[in-house]
Amino acid sequence: MPGRVTALPPGQGVTLGISRYEVVSGDWQEGYAAFRRYFDMQGYVPPENFDPPVHWNQLYDMTSWHTISGYDDRRQELYTLAALWGEARKARDYHCESLYLDPGWDTAFGSAIWDEARLGPQAEFVARLREDYDLGLSLHCPLAAWCETSCYPAEALRMDEDGERVPGAVCSGSRQYLEMKAERLLKLCEDGATFLMYDGTNYTGPCCDPNHGHPIPHTPDDQASNYRWLCEVVQEKYPEVLIELHDVHGSGTKRAILPKHFPHRPGWNVENWGNEYMWTTFEDLFTGKMKYLDYVNRAYSLPMYLHISLINDNEHGLALWYTASTCRHLGIGGTHPNPVVATAQKGHMAKYRQLKRFFAQGHYFGLDENTHLHYLPDVQEAVLLLFNFTDQSVLRNEGIALPAAVNLDGKLLGNLGVRVGTTGETQTLFLNTVVPPRGVRVILLQQRDRVQQTTVIW
Ligand SMILES: [Zn+2]
Repeated sequence: MPGRVTALPPGQGVTLGISRYEVVSGDWQEGYAAFRRYFDMQGYVPPENFDPPVHWNQLYDMTSWHTISGYDDRRQELYTLAALWGEARKARDYHCESLYLDPGWDTAFGSAIWDEARLGPQAEFVARLREDYDLGLSLHCPLAAWCETSCYPAEALRMDEDGERVPGAVCSGSRQYLEMKAERLLKLCEDGATFLMYDGTNYTGPCCDPNHGHPIPHTPDDQASNYRWLCEVVQEKYPEVLIELHDVHGSGTKRAILPKHFPHRPGWNVENWGNEYMWTTFEDLFTGKMKYLDYVNRAYSLPMYLHISLINDNEHGLALWYTASTCRHLGIGGTHPNPVVATAQKGHMAKYRQLKRFFAQGHYFGLDENTHLHYLPDVQEAVLLLFNFTDQSVLRNEGIALPAAVNLDGKLLGNLGVRVGTTGETQTLFLNTVVPPRGVRVILLQQRDRVQQTTVIW
């Protein structure tokens, strides 16, 4: 329920959004499709030529400097420039496009100030990153609920009903915080950051400070508006900078607290967070929890971003491909201890880069939970993914009717295991292939006259 409703004073009104009802024939999947169709028509689609940089996240391979409560901040000795260049080399080896820095690059948690004393000037780091590794710079930027409060003015702290400051609690609605935060985020972009993750978006709680510039009480809706402003103030000056905004009430969680389209607007060039499937990805795959991402995609087109660790993935790249298939913006990190698996993972990433446009820009169809299709209507081509989450090989010998919006008519390149048949208006995928245990097959359905490479992409 909108926060304004719960805070409605006697005798006053509140304007709510539009409620839309649409009668749909068919099953629940038709309902999902109708929901997505409606939002697509309203302009809630990825930007034209959406091309998010594939991330390498340093987090998974670098020794943690802070995460155990009670230990000192050890970023000075553990989050070093030398370690970051080591991660940049890996980013290049794994065919990534940007080095993503999780917490530790800043002067204090959530300060949003580049630690120049330890890492040198940010602009120099960015220049070398581009010149030596052909990488961009992407940064984790936690907001008010998850920051070292001493980095912000004391006047930005929450105030209780008795007019007392709440220690250690920055108010997400205080102009003292928001203006300083915006200034620092803009400085990061000025010095070359091209992606910002807005984490730490939990609701910071009620606040009664009349000098903060927010309504009293300060509600979760107000916070959502403030964080939307923090996106827009950055993109107004740096429209090429991509932002991922966590759930503006629940922050990083596997629970879906808010509708995915809130607080978006048509043409919104901001990504959603692929929840927290970044920690126990393999477990989340086999328990089925991660299929949540598939279902979000069936109903909504704005991109999700997620990074995962390769350390728990296997030689088939099952987690890698599942994340790639459900999140238009992919991040990876972590070196698998088995070099044979690590080499295979690099091969998967090379293939992903060749097929990236299908994943970043294609129309997504969850044909079933184990069968995903990414379709590009301008070239009438698609990438088909066949997942196998079991411990047995699976023979896929079946016909699957394609959705009406998919047209793979034409002369598709012959493929081992898949062909498309047309009967009247209906096109059908005929599969005859084996998917290995805990494996995936990634198949490009390519028109013959568009083949430009001497090597087939399998
Ligand atoms: Zn406040």
